[in-house]
Amino acid sequence: MCSICGHYPCHPQCPNAPDPEAVYECASCKEPIRDGDDYFELDGDYYHEDCFLDNAPGILVEKCGAVRGTADARCQ
Ligand SMILES: [Zn+2]
Ligand SMILES: [Zn+2]
Repeated sequence: MCSICGHYPCHPQCPNAPDPEAVYECASCKEPIRDGDDYFELDGDYYHEDCFLDNAPGILVEKCGAVRGTADARCQ
């Protein structure tokens, strides 16, 4: 039995608990997306929810052809 949480196997919140199984690899940070993590999938790439939200504009530009421009009245 674990001396920290008193359970065997460890309680999931216990620092001795093994990491949950990796299910996907995040295309942004390259870290595993583990069992129970929230994720986004785009074109077969998987992202942690946080990574996707942090990088959404860049991902849209890279994957979806989004274009960032600066409006310029002189070009009209
Ligand atoms: Zn434990
Ligand atoms: Zn990530």
